[in-house]
Formats: sequence, structure tokens, C-alpha cells
Amino acid sequence: MMWQDRMQENVASTQTHERILQWSRRIVEHSRQLAALNSIASSVSQSLDFQETLESAISQVLHLMECDAGMIFLTDVFTGDLTLKASAGISPATVSQIERINPGDTCIGRVMQTGEPAVGEIPTGDGHPLSRSLRREGYWFFAAIPLRSKGRTLGVLLIVHPHPKQVDADARQFLTAAGDIIGVAIENAALYRDVAELLNETRHQAEKLRESERQFRTLIDSANDAVAIVQDGRFQYLNPFGLALFGYTAEEIRHLCFLDLVHPRDRETVARHHLWRSPQGMTAPLDIMMVRKDGTAIPVNLNACAIDYWRKPAVLIIVRDMTESHRLRQQILHTEKMAALGQLISGIAHELNNPLTTVIGYSELLCQQSHPPEELLEEGLTAIHEAARRASQIVRNLLAFARQHPVERSPVNINELMERTLALRSYELKVNNIEIVTDFDPQLPLIVADGAQLQQVFLNLIINAEQAMQAHGGGHLFVRTRVKALRPEHDCKSLTGEVSPASQPSNGQRPASADLPSHTNTLVEIIVADDGPGIPPDLLHRIFEPFFTTKPVGQGTGLGLSISHSIIEQHGGRISAGNRSEGGAEFVIELPLVTELNEHPSSEPDEVQSLPPTAPKQILVIDDEPSIVRLLQTIAASEGHSVETATDGRAALAKLRSRVYDLIFCDVKMPLVNGQQLYQELKRFNGTLAKKIVFITGDVISTDTRAFLQQTGSRFLEKPFHQQDVVRLMRTLLAQQESS
Ligand code: ADP
Repeated sequence: MMWQDRMQENVASTQTHERILQWSRRIVEHSRQLAALNSIASSVSQSLDFQETLESAISQVLHLMECDAGMIFLTDVFTGDLTLKASAGISPATVSQIERINPGDTCIGRVMQTGEPAVGEIPTGDGHPLSRSLRREGYWFFAAIPLRSKGRTLGVLLIVHPHPKQVDADARQFLTAAGDIIGVAIENAALYRDVAELLNETRHQAEKLRESERQFRTLIDSANDAVAIVQDGRFQYLNPFGLALFGYTAEEIRHLCFLDLVHPRDRETVARHHLWRSPQGMTAPLDIMMVRKDGTAIPVNLNACAIDYWRKPAVLIIVRDMTESHRLRQQILHTEKMAALGQLISGIAHELNNPLTTVIGYSELLCQQSHPPEELLEEGLTAIHEAARRASQIVRNLLAFARQHPVERSPVNINELMERTLALRSYELKVNNIEIVTDFDPQLPLIVADGAQLQQVFLNLIINAEQAMQAHGGGHLFVRTRVKALRPEHDCKSLTGEVSPASQPSNGQRPASADLPSHTNTLVEIIVADDGPGIPPDLLHRIFEPFFTTKPVGQGTGLGLSISHSIIEQHGGRISAGNRSEGGAEFVIELPLVTELNEHPSSEPDEVQSLPPTAPKQILVIDDEPSIVRLLQTIAASEGHSVETATDGRAALAKLRSRVYDLIFCDVKMPLVNGQQLYQELKRFNGTLAKKIVFITGDVISTDTRAFLQQTGSRFLEKPFHQQDVVRLMRTLLAQQESS
């Protein structure tokens, strides 16, 4: 072989050898890269912790690329900015400057757009904060690797080094593959993080729900009101307070309907209540009576709202026991009434002194003369009778006011009631130079109301006006009544839209204090006004508040108007206050006209059909006051009856045991044996005779006496009585006995 040939052969063999060397180097490099990719994949997928995954990815790539620092930026989907999520080898000062960057038209921006890695020198003149910061830290080389998953670029892994580095096509390929692996791992970790957060949140919500359910349960279980859940009319739940209130066990209540516990009187009202038909929102409160297991009735206030119970519509009902508040209300009413009574007493005493002066004066005059002249006798007796009659009327008015009534509605003549109330106050008004100016509508129909309560309202308004005018040295008290038809535009809507007294405007206009029933189109209006100083406009909205008073201590309780307001409201009416344009205050009461009972008279007619005298009978008169015994004896004898008398209960019982009487007049209050005891004793041994007792009493004010008379159904005569009252009663009862 020629040396040239040998040379050629040698060259070829060297080239082949080199190529083999190159290939084997590439194979080694590829397998190193594969191993590295494998290592990255296993490292980043080992943890599902998002942050851990990022940090592990950076350290793997830095290790393989032999670079000093690296960072991962992820895209903020809302702003498009890149946010730094993890870093290694970067100073905290730089980290704080590159926490959020706008990729813009930088290498990183291009990597994000193209999804291709970029390598090279960190630019010095692009002015981007990232380049500036990295340069300042002394880095020269960069490689930006897109992090991709399912074709989307999630962010960039940026590695940097202080010196230039060779990155060939294989290395680029490697970086692309590494970016894809890291991208998928990041997405998985993010997914896992989101699911974990969701689970955490759900667990938290469930715990919160359980806690609020526990709190709700504790609240309901320890509530001081009965709380019930009612579904399809049946009890599903009643709290411990409710069970104790109604006297049932939890087991028993589950077999009952809500209406079973409602008083028969109110069942229809509750059944008709719109709540049951359309359970939406909170219903207006309802005042009704309910019944305990032992049959006792309780006044309650119902509030209800629609709820979902086990995915079915139900009603949550709160039942408040009103027994105590009713009792308190009665007590406050009575206290206020007693306070008013106290104010009345001094006036009444003066008022009584006038007729008493007449009685004493004339009777002394007549007694001094053994044979008084005929004219003086007639004049004196007439004056004494008239004075005594007036005094008895004053006492009667006072007693009627002081009497503690159960709430009772009956037809009331408002004009008459107002007259009687003004009479109670006439003395005080007179001495305070207050002239009463009345304008009563003679056609005013009777209204169904509690007369005693309305009188309390009138009296309070009169006393307030009087006190206001007193400071002015007198004035005029105007009282007017009239029937008022509601004009069409003044309909219920406008009425119900008005403000409550607690928030009255101070413009002198009349705000409503209670809504009138929607069917009402005629009202009775009562106006009490004065020409005193009026009510300061800034106080107008407060005067109906309980305990609001501008009067000095001892003169005002501040309860008068608030009680008046609640009384009028209970009558379905309203009361408002304002100032008259001429000066002075004006109170207007509007009461709905309830006509059903109007045909009944408000009081007994004066003239009872007079009966003729009966045949002579046996009558017993028992009283510890000799003059009354004597008077009744004389009246009965004048009717032709034979009369026996007793001045105490014991003596009377002895007589009653020994003989029979046709009629017995008996005082209620007597020493030793009083009227009630005598009745009980007589009933024991002669029930028929006990029914013939007519009690004489000056004590109708006491609840005890009234209860006794009501319970026994006995007849009674109120002191002071007129002769004709006694005659009429005697004839009526004896005639009844004759005819039976
Ligand atoms: P009291 O009379 O005990 O103060 P009221 O509730 O009856 O309580 O009255 C509340 C307040 O309303 C009074 O203190 C007074 O300031 C004012 N007021 C009531 N009536 C009149 C009136 N006719 N003129 C001026 N102010 C009045």
C-alpha cells in the first residue's frame, strides 16, 4: 500500500473515531439530560405542596445547568402581570423589587408569547426593572424557560449566572422539556391546593353551621318565650319554656295541632290568618288567648315567620305570655287613676262644702224655731233637699270614677260622660278662672267603649289643660264632640301611613297614634283644647312617651298621656296632639263608630213604669245607723207595711230565726255580724228568705262588696238613695212575690 493510501486510511479512521467519540459524548449528554429530566420529574411530583414543588424545580434546574440563581414567575390571570412565586440565590432586596413585573416587550415577554426558551446575555439597555436588578446583583447570563401545561404558558423559570454559558440546541431542547415537566407539576400542585382549600373551606363552613345551629338551639331552648315550629298545622317542636307554659311533654305536643292550643274564641282568627295560606316573611303580631293543658286560658302575643324545616315549608311561631304585662298594665292604669283621684279630692271637698253649708244653715234655722213660718219651712226644706241631692251627685261621680273596673265595653254616651267628668273638675276650673266652653253634638250616637277608661282619658286631658292655663291666670277650656265622616281621600291608606306618637312631627299637624280599622268610615271626634301656652313644637313628638313630663316633681308623673294613648288605641281609635293657630294646645281623639250595640240605652231610663202599692207585708230593716233605720221604717210604713228593725246583725239573725219576712233591708257593713255573714248564715237555715234581702251599701267602690253582690245576685240600694228608689224597689219585689 502506498503511504498516501495509508495516510488517507489513517485520516478516515481518525475522523470515524472522532465521530464515534462525538456521538458517544452526545449519547452521554442525552442520557445525562434524560436522567436529569427524570430527576426533575420525580422531584417535582413527589410533593403536592405547591410551594415545595416550585422550590424543588428551581434547585433541580440550577443544579443541572450549573447556574447560581433562579426564580419562578407565574402569570396573574386577572392582570397579566408576572408574580414571583419562588426564588433561590437572589438577595431579599432584589426579591422585593421584582415581586410583580410587567413582562412587556422583554425576553421574558417573548418567552411568554412564543412558548420557546430564550438564553443569552441579560440586556443592559432595556430599562426593565428585572434586568436592572439582576445586573446590579452581578449576573450576566440568563435562560428563560417557559412553564407550559396543556398548551398554555403558565409562567417562566428564569435562571441566571455571573458568567457567559454555552447553550446548544440539545440544551435548549432539554430546557423546553424541563419547562413542560415543571409546568404540569405546578398545575397539579395548584389544582391540589385549590381542592384542599375548597375542602378546608367546606369543612370550616360545616363547622360554622354546626356551631350556629348549636347556638340557635341554646338560644331557643333557653328563650323566655315559647318558640314552636309548626308544619302542616302540627307541632314539630316546642321549646322547654313552651312545654312548661302549656303543661305538655315533648312527646305529647308532637301529637297536637297548633290550633288545639288556641282558645276556641280565637281559633277562627288564627285559622284565617294569612300566614297559614301564604307563609312568607314575618306576619303582623296577633293578640289572642291560648289554653293550657289544665284548661286555664292565657293571653298571648303571637309572632310568626315562614321557615324551611327539613326542606318543607313550616312556620316558626313565637308565643309571648302576656299575663304579667296585662296585670302590670292594669296596675299602672290604677295607680295613675289613684293619682288623678288624689287631685280630685281637694276640689270635691270644696264642692261638697257648699251644699253642706246650705244643709247645716237651713236645718239649724228651722230647728231653732218651734213653729217656723210656712214659707221658711218650705224654702228651707227645698234648699236642704236640693243641696243634699247635689252632694250625693258629687259623691256618686267620684265613686264611679274611683271604681276599679274590669275592662268592659258597653254603649256609652260620650257627651254625658264628658259632662260628668267636667263636673268632677268644676270647682278647680272655677277657682282657676277657667271658663268651660262646650260644643256637644246632640246627634252624637252611642259608641261601644269602656266608659270608665274613656273617663280617665278625658280627666287627664282636662287636668293637663287646667294646669297649663293656671300659669296664665286662667283661660278657656274648649270641649267639642262631633260625628266625622271620613272623606274618600282620607282613606285607610293615608291613616295607616301616619307616624306614631313617639315620632310625631312638630309642625302642629295631627299625627296618628293608632290606626283605625279599615272598615271605619265614620268617627266620633272629641276635641279638648285650651288657650294656654301650648306645647313647645320640639316637645310635641315626646309627650306620649311614658314618664315624659315637664312638670315639677310631685306634680307630674308623665304617665297620663301614654296611658291615654294606649286606652284609645285599645278602642281602635287614635289620639293626637297639636297647637291651635290662636295659641294653646289641642288634643283630638277619634273613635270608630261601632253601631251594633247602639240600640241599647247607655243607662236605665229614669222613669220606671210605676207600680201600685201591694197588700201590707212584713218588713225587716237592719242597719247600725239609727237614722237610716228610722228613715226606711217610715218609708215602708207609709206604704202600709208593718216594719220591724234591728241595729246589728246578731239581733237581726235572732229575729229571722223566729219568724218569716216578705222583704229585708240589710246594711252591708255592720259591726259584729256584717251583711255578708248574715246572708251566709241565713242561706244555711232559710235559703228562700236569703233571696228576699235587699242590701244597702255606700261601699260600691270596694271590689270585695261588688264581688259579693255579683256572686249572690242580690238586689241592692246605693246610699244615698231617694225615697222613690226605695218605694219603686219595694213595690217591684213584693209584686213579683205575689205573682209567683
Ligand atoms: P304629666 O301631666 O304627668 O306631665 P302627661 O303624660 O299627661 O304627664 O303629659 C306629658 C306632658 O305633655 C306634660 O308634662 C306637658 O309638658 C305636656 N302637655 C300635656 N297637655 C298639655 C297642654 N294642654 N298644654 C301644654 N302642655 C301639655
